[in-house]
Amino acid sequence: MAISERLSEILFQPVTVVKNVGASRAAAFNRVGVSTVGDLLRYFPRAYQNRGATKTIEQIKDEIATEDKERSDPCSVVITVSAEPYSKMIRRGMTITRVKAFDDTGFCEITFFNQPYVRDYFRTGAEFRLWGRFEYARGRLTITSPVWEPAAPGADLPPIVPVYPLTQGLTQKTVSQAVSNALALAGAALDEYLPENVLQKSSLPTYSYAIRNIHCPASVEALEEAKRRLAFDELLLTSLALSVSGGNRKIESSVSVGSTDLTPLTSLLPYSLTPSQKRSVGEILRDMSGDHAMNRILVGDVGSGKTVVAAAAAYAVMRSGYSAALMAPTEILALQHYTDLMQLFEKLGLECMLLTGSTGASQRKKILAALSDPSEPVLIIGTHALISPDVDPVNLGLVIIDEQHRFGVMQRAALADKTEGVHTLVMSATPIPRTLSLIAYGNLAVSRLDELPSGRLPIDTFAVDESYRRRLNGFIQKQVDEGHQVYVVCPAVEEVKKPEKETDDPLEMANITLFDLALPDDDLPMKSAVAYTDELKRELPGCRIAFVHGKMRPAEKDSVMRSFASGDIDVLVSTTVIEVGVNVPNATLMIVENAERFGLSQLHQLRGRVGRGGAKSYFVMVSDSKSEKALQRISVLKNSRDGYEIAEADLRQRGPGDILSENSVIRQHGQSSMLLVKGCTDAALLETATEAVTAILGDDPALIKPANAGIRSKVERLVAGSAGTIS
Ligand code: ADP
Ligand code: MG
Repeated sequence: MAISERLSEILFQPVTVVKNVGASRAAAFNRVGVSTVGDLLRYFPRAYQNRGATKTIEQIKDEIATEDKERSDPCSVVITVSAEPYSKMIRRGMTITRVKAFDDTGFCEITFFNQPYVRDYFRTGAEFRLWGRFEYARGRLTITSPVWEPAAPGADLPPIVPVYPLTQGLTQKTVSQAVSNALALAGAALDEYLPENVLQKSSLPTYSYAIRNIHCPASVEALEEAKRRLAFDELLLTSLALSVSGGNRKIESSVSVGSTDLTPLTSLLPYSLTPSQKRSVGEILRDMSGDHAMNRILVGDVGSGKTVVAAAAAYAVMRSGYSAALMAPTEILALQHYTDLMQLFEKLGLECMLLTGSTGASQRKKILAALSDPSEPVLIIGTHALISPDVDPVNLGLVIIDEQHRFGVMQRAALADKTEGVHTLVMSATPIPRTLSLIAYGNLAVSRLDELPSGRLPIDTFAVDESYRRRLNGFIQKQVDEGHQVYVVCPAVEEVKKPEKETDDPLEMANITLFDLALPDDDLPMKSAVAYTDELKRELPGCRIAFVHGKMRPAEKDSVMRSFASGDIDVLVSTTVIEVGVNVPNATLMIVENAERFGLSQLHQLRGRVGRGGAKSYFVMVSDSKSEKALQRISVLKNSRDGYEIAEADLRQRGPGDILSENSVIRQHGQSSMLLVKGCTDAALLETATEAVTAILGDDPALIKPANAGIRSKVERLVAGSAGTIS
């Protein structure tokens, strides 16, 4: 056994080996996903109190006065007690203890409820560091039930105190203590495992430093350094885990697709394929003619023409005598694919079928019968209904999954598992920045559609504020009068309640978050799809207006979407459910309300819903936001039409959180393991992590060299934790 493996064994021990963690605390820890010492060390605080940056009483008074607020922000002060505390019973079972105190700049009062014992500590002349919020009570600056720590000269007070996520049976104190006991126990298991040159390249601190400082930061700067290092590790290890486990997963395939002349298909199209469509088709055909099952993702911006590439793949497979399946995330999309492809395939003498949740029983029976007849290859198009166990296509050669991020890994696997060694093509409209492609796609081979078909009219993009409302309504009316249709996207389904009251528990108060996905940074009221539909109906009485949102039942949603697609609705108000690839070429105007609430990539996806027909189309972002970041996002979108460029900008502004949580490959790896990388906006850091992965794998693809033993043991843990299903 290698030394590093033996050392890291302690990390695999159950939490009960940690001092002060008995069976009941261990059970509580288990509830938050912590079962080993290693898990405990990776149980990061969600926030911190910066108690080291103490304020003076004068500063707190100024803050309350100048910002005209009821209470100060959470902060700490160092005070001296000026007189013996005074307790009284204010009613049965309720005592109040008041302490008068001062610092160099003024006086304040401390109030405790039902803690008469504090009198024994708060003696005249004693010094304390307090943490909490100040307010005026009875004309005096007062802090109620603060966190307090004796602050006699020379006292060892941590400058930054972690705030852990809790569950029943865990308090801040039990978690902090358990973590610090675990840190003592782990010792050499936290030794550095990355090569020196990798650390130097990104000026990263050691692993041990990072783990210690994420829990007990020595300073704000130390916390920042720790976050960078751990984000780097998350990206590096997850990428390695995906690559290593993927490398062993080449599956033999018995489905051999011979070389196929695509002219019969392409000559039916009213256009010729773009260069990247041709390239992608070539890559797919080459994969499918080999000995191994294809495992490929086709990535292309909305409207880049993925469907026809899928059609070409299906065509080739069927010409070789196999059936193909195409699975879409919604009924409406499945129907759309079916309508388009059926016309095409019928002319080619190939059979096309639709199977969804609403397919009638007798039709379903007919389809299942046809699928079990091996003499006739079919293209079966459908929704999740295709996964059902009684759908058992004989001779299945290819599975195509559209809008792959909408499906879970298990669902994708379930369809592909119907036939051993079947080829798989997944399609995605989410452009992923290069730095994240390793982690996002894992072992999938990637084909990209990087240009839009020519002849598309550019979509005019505008950003306006509320003062344009009347003109905007007029513009909606104009589009409708011209026979076109309009999308309006709102951030919320229903009226949004005021944000929850800030917590009163001083231990919960924090002023540093672990990572800051500051979106939005101003808190404007949100338009809701339901309420805004009513408003629009009043404003535009001549228009047929309906709403659709994610909380509706799927059948209801589909029926509204269908009416919109068939032109029976003029204006569709919705939440982002329409993000998924519906194609309504007659829609020429997309309005996004509260544009400050949406990420760049999301806005770009929404824009791609219009401009699909011959008519000039418009994209209007409505926002009253004055926030620098929001305005910057909106301007990126005005100036770029390139999905990759926009995704890169999104990554730099907000970190890869959205990309990673929307991608099913990552989801499989658990949210908590990607906590830090999600909020990391340091693009250069992510880039060097990716470079390091490439370098490590180039030198030692299976991670068997002794120098990589430490890395290997961490990667193995990740692979084991993800249940091994990666592709
Ligand atoms: P997406 O990649 O978003 O799934 P689609 O496959 O729905 O895009 O294609 C969008 C539109 O572009 C369709 O109307 C399709 O017919 C058209 N299209 C696809 N390829 C080309 C091409 N090479 N030239 C012109 N139009 C094309
Ligand atoms: Mg599509």
